[in-house]
Amino acid sequence: VAKVDETWQDAERRMRELGDLRRVVGLLSWDQETLMPPAGAAARARRLATVQGIAHERLCDPAFGAALDRLAEAELDPVRAACVRHARRDRERARKLPTDFVRRLAAARSRGVQAWKRARAENDFAVLRGPLEQVVALTRERADRLSEDGEHYDALLDDYELGMRVERLEPLLCELGAALRELLDAVREPAAAAPPPPFAGAEFPRDAQWSYTIELLRELGFDLDAGRQDRSPHPFTSSPALADVRLTTRLFPDNPFSGIFSTIHEAGHGLYEQGFDPAHEDLPVADAPSLGLHESQSRLWENVVGRSLPFWQHELPRLRAAFPEQLATASVEDVHRHVNRVTPSLIRVDADEVTYNLHIIARFELELALVRGDLEVGALPDAWDDAYRRLLGIDPPDHLRGVLQDIHWSQGLIGYFPTYTLGNLYAAVLWGQLRRDRPAIEDEIERGEFAPLLGWLRERIHRHGRVLDGEELIRRVTGRPLETGPFVDYLWGKFGPLYGVARP
Ligand code: ZN
Repeated sequence: VAKVDETWQDAERRMRELGDLRRVVGLLSWDQETLMPPAGAAARARRLATVQGIAHERLCDPAFGAALDRLAEAELDPVRAACVRHARRDRERARKLPTDFVRRLAAARSRGVQAWKRARAENDFAVLRGPLEQVVALTRERADRLSEDGEHYDALLDDYELGMRVERLEPLLCELGAALRELLDAVREPAAAAPPPPFAGAEFPRDAQWSYTIELLRELGFDLDAGRQDRSPHPFTSSPALADVRLTTRLFPDNPFSGIFSTIHEAGHGLYEQGFDPAHEDLPVADAPSLGLHESQSRLWENVVGRSLPFWQHELPRLRAAFPEQLATASVEDVHRHVNRVTPSLIRVDADEVTYNLHIIARFELELALVRGDLEVGALPDAWDDAYRRLLGIDPPDHLRGVLQDIHWSQGLIGYFPTYTLGNLYAAVLWGQLRRDRPAIEDEIERGEFAPLLGWLRERIHRHGRVLDGEELIRRVTGRPLETGPFVDYLWGKFGPLYGVARP
């Protein structure tokens, strides 16, 4: 036992050092996205490469491997066992990807992003085609190196949603797609006929929006002594430390709800990060089990809570205090209807809760076909348009509002999109359990009492970090596996009454 303790202490020291390096990389990247002047880019890329190189060396140190191997044989408590499991997996994956391959992939990704920007500026997919072909080829090679047999896409899913498999994901998304199209067919006409809100066309100055979102963060329970909010073109959350959680948002003067929901979304991520057990800081378990589970927190706060009637019953008077003229005649029902307007649209990030996951299903089908070699990059634009016609019943007029809208694929993020939908599914499963455990939860939200909700999430989800895998954690909390039923029930429960349609 003394020997095991000694080995653990050595491994723990190395894990914490790797945690430090990872958070240094995070802080440099956060700064790059928010404050760094453009001319700093080249030097910043070198600093990042140096720190990442040091982290890679430390991770691959044979002495670390030997310590982890000994610990894998020993009897450990669940937290230590999970740390060892994650560290061994990180090492194994790092060792399967030689440095020169990692460098080639990084270069292809950065060429991909440059080409994507140019292709968008010129609205011309041909500019992206060659660079994207390279990214896809190297991504397939990466999957080959990581797992010798089976489905390539599974190895990619493992980066984002550990343990998820195509054979589990595909039927889940297929079932969800059918249910969503049924709901969309039912609400399409009444939704299109809904009148514009009374505040359409009003101007909402950014300063007042900013103060309101900071107040909102405080209300939701985000600790502003252990975090902050800044602005960036693409909102994100980054944690240099568990007590230093950085959110970003973006504000548009013609649409205050865009900024409000982006703030609530990132707050959901940030509350999760602030909720990990501080004793685990810098250990591999101080993290979410998967991106889907991280996304479940942002989507639960943004959609399930933030787009609900009880939330706006409490929040509208406060928002009206910030914009007395603009919102003078707006009712709670006006706002609720406005922030839940269902309309099949071309752009994923603007989509409502009903159609959003159809955008994801389209991307999943296409990227799976790309990775399997069933679809050539050159044929991607036509396949994209076909998928939008089939799933959403709309026809992209150009590639800018079609295949060129997302940065993900050119950046090598393939296998990532499904985590957004998994986040919605996890959020609905959790919400169902929350309502069983706390039947008065909606009354509490209507009174602006968010502490009970946050407390429940802290206790059931946040403090566990990734001691368990995502689906296992959900099963412990709800007694059920991940399924589509609770999400579809939740959507009908909201949109049926909103548009006066009955579920068939
Ligand atoms: Zn998110």
